[in-house]
Amino acid sequence: MTAPVRRYARGPARAAWALALAVALSGLGCASAPPGQDGVPDGSASRSSASSASSGPPGQVARDRPEAPAQPTGPRRRVLAVSVDGLGSAVLRRLGPRQAPTFHRMLRRGASTLEARTEVEMTVTLPNHTSMLTGRRIDAARGGHGVTWNDDVADRSVPRDASGRVVRSIFTSAHRAGLHTAMFAGKQKFHTFDNTWSRAIDRVLVTSDQARLVRAARHDLVHGRRAFTFLHLRGPDSAGHEDGFDSPAYVAAGREADRQLGGVLRTVRTHPRLQRHLVVVLTADHGGRGADGHDVATRAANYRVPFLVWGRGVVHRDLYRLSPGRRNPGGAQPGYGRPRQPVRNGDVANLAADLLGLRAVPGSTIGARQDLRVLARRR
Ligand SMILES: [Zn+2]
Repeated sequence: MTAPVRRYARGPARAAWALALAVALSGLGCASAPPGQDGVPDGSASRSSASSASSGPPGQVARDRPEAPAQPTGPRRRVLAVSVDGLGSAVLRRLGPRQAPTFHRMLRRGASTLEARTEVEMTVTLPNHTSMLTGRRIDAARGGHGVTWNDDVADRSVPRDASGRVVRSIFTSAHRAGLHTAMFAGKQKFHTFDNTWSRAIDRVLVTSDQARLVRAARHDLVHGRRAFTFLHLRGPDSAGHEDGFDSPAYVAAGREADRQLGGVLRTVRTHPRLQRHLVVVLTADHGGRGADGHDVATRAANYRVPFLVWGRGVVHRDLYRLSPGRRNPGGAQPGYGRPRQPVRNGDVANLAADLLGLRAVPGSTIGARQDLRVLARRR
């Protein structure tokens, strides 16, 4: 049985309500557990109470904003979205449950599929991640978010849409509902999101140091009280570009990502509040094949990705069997015009919104009906 999810109030009434709560809660301080109780080594991650602007080695940027609005009463449900860069479905099949026990646990004990799809237009990192966060396709001329570049530069933003408005995201939806968010990412290009939605992302850490990134994310899950956390693991993509997307190094990077995810799920299982309330949604931006990389959007090895949903209350079943509005595309990559769409990595935004009790992200089209069913119905 699942608890009802509340819809957050909107408009001026919501703003006044959030402000009143923020004032009331500001005197209470942050009631997080003392360090050491979470089973997560503190490492170099900053505590959520510590204000820090970018410091540390080059390539590592951390920000934490203490003045973010206080969370109403702690959301009933929380979402951790994980994207494993370059993790095509084929490598999960190849690894199997023995070499990738955590991915396969999410597959078996979750609402999951290995037949999810990327966006149609492109199978590269930044455009596909922007779809995950906005629920939009890529092509700006057709209502997409317009992020078509993939350079690893930190100074760009998501372009404004055709009407000159800022493109909305799951971060902005959560923020408008008075909820906290965080982003942990392994590539500088993810600053595109921080640049675009700076007020809506309360904690940002971008570093190529994977161990530090995962440690900080685990620590923040326990102490940060985010309703929505986004975690990007870069390992498989980096190994794929270096040695090929079928190389032993790529497969080893898949195993390593599984191990990192295993640590995250251990944190969830050992903290009752996370165990009760957190749902993990895992997907990938694209796969890859051999030495060819992953640029060709019409190639199955590139567009075929996992979509795994796991947590308390999540049904253990094939995601397509749970969601009659969707159709397993077999080996194909259907266009956006098909009435029964495949599950896409771009479904992350609106599934997360749905789980948090929020309406679809304004301007989104992927999963905008919020028709993915992952939770057991109330009896
Ligand atoms: Zn790549």
